[in-house]
Amino acid sequence: MHSDLNFTLLGLSAPLLEAIADQGYKTPTAVQLKAIPVVLKGKDLMAAAQTGTGKTAAFTLPVLERLIKGQRAQANQARVLILTPTRELAAQVGESVATYSKYLPLRTAVVYGGVKINPQMMALRKGVDILVATPGRLLDLFNQNAVRFKQLEILVLDEADRMLDMGFIHDIRKILAVLPKHRQNLMFSATFSDDIRQLAKGLVHQPVEFSVNPRNTTAKTVSQWIHPVDKKKKTALLIHLIKKNNWQQILVFCRTKQGANRLTRYLEEAGLNAAAIHGNKSQGARTRALAEFKAAELSILVATDIAARGLDIDQLPLVVNFDLPNVAEDYIHRTGRTGRAGASGQAVSLVSADEFDQLSDIEHLIKQLLKRKLIDGFEPVHDVPESKLWRKPKKPKKPKKPKAGHRDGQRSSENAQGHKLGHKPPGNKKSKPKSKKVTDSKKTAAKKRRSRD
Ligand code: AMP
Repeated sequence: MHSDLNFTLLGLSAPLLEAIADQGYKTPTAVQLKAIPVVLKGKDLMAAAQTGTGKTAAFTLPVLERLIKGQRAQANQARVLILTPTRELAAQVGESVATYSKYLPLRTAVVYGGVKINPQMMALRKGVDILVATPGRLLDLFNQNAVRFKQLEILVLDEADRMLDMGFIHDIRKILAVLPKHRQNLMFSATFSDDIRQLAKGLVHQPVEFSVNPRNTTAKTVSQWIHPVDKKKKTALLIHLIKKNNWQQILVFCRTKQGANRLTRYLEEAGLNAAAIHGNKSQGARTRALAEFKAAELSILVATDIAARGLDIDQLPLVVNFDLPNVAEDYIHRTGRTGRAGASGQAVSLVSADEFDQLSDIEHLIKQLLKRKLIDGFEPVHDVPESKLWRKPKKPKKPKKPKAGHRDGQRSSENAQGHKLGHKPPGNKKSKPKSKKVTDSKKTAAKKRRSRD
């Protein structure tokens, strides 16, 4: 049996080491080195780690190790609950669990909305060692007595920041209320905002806390640049770049679902092989598009931020930002789709003059000015001004007092995305005031984002 020395030293047993070796992993990543010993000791954990750092294996491997011991799950019980914000991420975590547990006699189920509930109820009937779930569907199943948590040993909250962004706080609190008090808690989040810390207070106990990527940095292995271009020429420029560079497998980000649909149509009309993935698509269509993209049968996947969150596609060479995101942190999440676990990648953004505010926020957040490349025939008439990295830093936001009659984290369209957009955009009282036009356009954009993906 082949096993890797480094993983061996972490205290994982043979069936796990063999599964790791099958994956070709040579050494543990930083988050794995830090998290695995903590989880094996049974301690609570709060880790700031982005997708792409190997965080899924960082919690799955030691969780599986702990599950080898202990009582098997009884009917309708789950021993480990992994909560994820999106269906895609749930499916992906489920795949990782299956991969790493293939030499172990453990039962796993993955449950999420948008598909029939009956097969999920059947899967839970005999009890499962690991249950991967999105919050809404889990509550539906709980309310129908399909799942119980008497035997729950470990709770994992994956991408906690995105759970809050998507307005899941209310569901999470409901779920926490039905879990046994004595359990191990592992919380993973790209960043630790005030809201996340607030959530953590009622969740983790004396956690070991660490961060593997310094906050708000993009992976070093990703080369990034922008193409300044006029808005109305973006589609033509993208088609030109794809054809000229013979780009084969690219993930393209759009700000809105409508924008993603429109762009996909134009790409198809230009003879390119593209599909859109966003919240208005059926789960079947989303799963199919992702599978085809992973199998390289589809070359261009056009996605919105929430749909793409957590997508893990091996060796994704290129990410294109057709629009810049309104929330600067999303730029980091987007570029995180490429250059994963040490592989190199490229992140290209098409930027028009009206996106200067977003560009400036991003460059300020990542503390670097992005390289600019003009493309012959696409030089913009409307210039994209240079941002200044030495502008006054944004003031850290104060925790908001909840408004009367509006509970914290209400699962409503009013609150989805509210945690990031609720605070004042750059240009709060002390910094340079923004023109009314810009503020209005941000408000409209915020409104658009609130329609849940
Ligand atoms: P994640 O951050 O969990 O989304 O993982 C990102 C990617 O890294 C996945 O494709 C994993 O298969 C891969 N990966 C995880 N751990 C390792 C490792 N130790 N060595 C190489 N690749 C890894």
